[in-house]
Amino acid sequence: MNMSNSLVWFRRDLRAFDHAALHRALTASNRVHCVFVYDSGILDPLPRDDRRVRFIHASIASLDAELRRLGGHLIVRQGRPLEVVPALAAELGVEAVLVCADYEPEAVERDAQMAERLAADGRKFLSLKDQVVFEKDEVLTLAKGPFSVFTPYKNAWLKRLASMPETLASYPVDQYAHNFAPPPLDAPALPSLEEIGFAPGEPPLPAGMEGAEAMFEDFVRRIADYGRARDFPAQDGTSRLSVHLRFGTTSIRHLVRTARQMMENGAGGTGASVWLSELIWREFYAMILARHPHVVHQSFKPAFDAIEWESGMDADELFAAWCEGRTGYPLVDAAMAQLNRTGFMHNRLRMVTASFLTKDLGIDWRRGERYFALKLNDYELASNNGGWQWAASTGCDAQPWFRIFNPVSQSQRFDAHGEFIREWVPALASLSAKEIHAPWLVAQDVLADKGVVLGRDYPFPLVEHGAARKRTLERFAVVKKAAP
Ligand SMILES: Cc1cc2nc3c(=O)[nH]c(=O)nc-3n(C[C@H](O)[C@H](O)[C@H](O)COP(=O)(O)OP(=O)(O)OC[C@H]3O[C@@H](n4cnc5c(N)ncnc54)[C@H](O)[C@@H]3O)c2cc1C
Repeated sequence: MNMSNSLVWFRRDLRAFDHAALHRALTASNRVHCVFVYDSGILDPLPRDDRRVRFIHASIASLDAELRRLGGHLIVRQGRPLEVVPALAAELGVEAVLVCADYEPEAVERDAQMAERLAADGRKFLSLKDQVVFEKDEVLTLAKGPFSVFTPYKNAWLKRLASMPETLASYPVDQYAHNFAPPPLDAPALPSLEEIGFAPGEPPLPAGMEGAEAMFEDFVRRIADYGRARDFPAQDGTSRLSVHLRFGTTSIRHLVRTARQMMENGAGGTGASVWLSELIWREFYAMILARHPHVVHQSFKPAFDAIEWESGMDADELFAAWCEGRTGYPLVDAAMAQLNRTGFMHNRLRMVTASFLTKDLGIDWRRGERYFALKLNDYELASNNGGWQWAASTGCDAQPWFRIFNPVSQSQRFDAHGEFIREWVPALASLSAKEIHAPWLVAQDVLADKGVVLGRDYPFPLVEHGAARKRTLERFAVVKKAAP
């Protein structure tokens, strides 16, 4: 496609390197404009101090600075993309609008409407693969169907990559920078957070391309130990790159290329290949969502929709206690405190808290999923839905329904010294490593000597795990009857 004038619409791809749409626009046209739209449909319902908006806002500034260094600039608008983008395309007189593909069902629908609106004005809409290494139809079973089990999917994914290494090739931008449309002299300054209706504040982690790269460089130094360290929430064992992957401030190809190089030259130890597997989980869940969009509202396995979750005022109270970290199970409460205060939760703890909500409290996974969606800085529909359905056993390749995490033994195993709990539940800081995982088992006078009174300083457990486990097995028995 050759054009004189094009517009790249940035969405969840906030970077100016190794960028499929930007590369295509710059190689096919000699006047490339760039736009980001603060989508009022997404932003209006958010709290005014939303951490993700602060991250996006800082990343937009970094993107604009990089585009200016290259000779272009970022136009920033606010409103409904379906109105703003066609209007801007007309104002600039571009022949095409280019984007990096977004696979979430609502985004797919919006992009289909965008293509129609632009076509009605005689303009093209081009959507390119960028966010994943392989899309939903690129890694298939021998029968040419989608996988529903992770390990064979991963093996097929790796095999396909080995046969098509060019899939990881970078989409360079710098060398075509002369094709950027230069910023007009009267280009307005980027809007402040207040101007888009949000409270001022710092992003929750280093934002933008340089933030992502600094975090990745730091992780690369620790990657060899990832396989061991990744399960311990008190340790700095994981990359924390999920927010950058969510908003595209880093490139998945760049991450996979680096991990593979480190596997090949031995510098990544065993950690690099374990980490690569996690990146493949991300694509697995993206594929599941794209192939089975019913998972947004229903269980992946229909038989599990017969489960009767707890409801009513008692369930609402249990749910509120879980959200606020008042369950009486220290590891669960510490994890919820981390989520509420920072917007991050360690993967092990996402599994523990999701299991606790669904299998100890008997509450529908969809309620927990929505709470995570509200709070997580890295919230992403595919991975969040996949993670929740895994923990609730309703998903594909999920935890078997009769396997129920014991929140105390998880705590003893993955926070053995209680460091994580002490950081996030200071009321228990004086307890020893032996006492901290289940304070209700400690004699009251021993607790009192340490300044802790249960029911005053820290709650009694909401449920007794053994009894809750029994109720869950009964609740899930319906699956045994309904399943073929
Ligand atoms: C109930 C539940 C909800 C979750 N919700 C989300 C979510 O909304 N957004 C999100 O990005 N991840 C989600 N995850 C997956 C995982 O917990 C996070 O990706 C991870 O904790 C992010 O930390 P990190 O970047 O340090 O991960 P690392 O361990 O460094 O992993 C590297 C990258 O691999 C991907 N990844 C790792 N584990 C998984 C996984 N289990 N599933 C899919 N991708 C994975 C992420 O992109 C991550 O950044 C969820 C998991 C569970 C169990």
